[in-house]
Amino acid sequence: MFDLTGRTAVVTGAARGIGLTIAQVLSDHGASVAAVDLATEIHPVSEVEPAFGADIKYRAYECDVTDFDKAKQIADAIARDFGGVDILVNNAGIARDNLLMRMQESDFDAVLNVNLKGAFNFTRHLFRYLMRSKTGRVINISSVIGLMGNAGQANYAASKAGLIGLTKSAAKEFAGRGVTVNAIAPGFIETNMTAGLQNTDEYLKAIPLRKFGRPSDVAVAVLFLASDAASYITGEVIRVDGGLAMSS
Ligand code: NDP
Repeated sequence: MFDLTGRTAVVTGAARGIGLTIAQVLSDHGASVAAVDLATEIHPVSEVEPAFGADIKYRAYECDVTDFDKAKQIADAIARDFGGVDILVNNAGIARDNLLMRMQESDFDAVLNVNLKGAFNFTRHLFRYLMRSKTGRVINISSVIGLMGNAGQANYAASKAGLIGLTKSAAKEFAGRGVTVNAIAPGFIETNMTAGLQNTDEYLKAIPLRKFGRPSDVAVAVLFLASDAASYITGEVIRVDGGLAMSS
């Protein structure tokens, strides 16, 4: 049911954290993986290659997802190298937290550019390939913060809420071509992004399951949405948050 053999997945922000785990889980289930991230000399994506079986195709591509033209170049290169694209996971994301009244314009722009425009760029450029797939999938990694808002994260919340709007609009546009588009809204997942946060006990108290999530918790949700089992699901947002954003 979760066999992705013969399919090609593009994962952005795949050098570490949740993106790296998504790339590994999709690969473990038979997909060929194009791993997109910033400059490979800063974060050598190629270092993860030994984690992949020798018989499984895997390739790293250097790209800043905010760059519209470079994203097109990379999208076309991936489709050429792998002979098509079936799955796109828009995962690259950053946070630049501050209270709204102290937030710099550059921090607002940077977060919107990576988290929202980056997803637009890759969706826009890969759609022509996804629509040729019999099982085209776009999976956007949003956040519960996009559903709930959060003091000190207006830029991040706006970008992640925007990503949900992008997901639902693209789901309606792409449905006629058989491409599903869904979002995942993780809660507190232990990665570099959350490593520096203070008062983690306070966060724990707010999570009904009383524990933080792991990258693999998000990756298995991606695997499900990428698989044939999810072929009748589109425009949906799946929370992976230990109950954090549950409505009463
Ligand atoms: P990390 O910071 O650990 O990893 C993010 C990856 O994205 C890094 O490899 C980073 O590269 C890359 N990246 C950043 N900017 C760009 C860019 N412009 N172009 C290409 N790649 C880029 O984050 P997480 O793994 O924690 O988060 C992954 C996604 O999950 C993000 O979208 C995040 O918002 C979302 N999320 C995370 C949660 C959490 O609790 N961790 C909760 C909810 C959502 P570099 O290292 O060079 O910056």
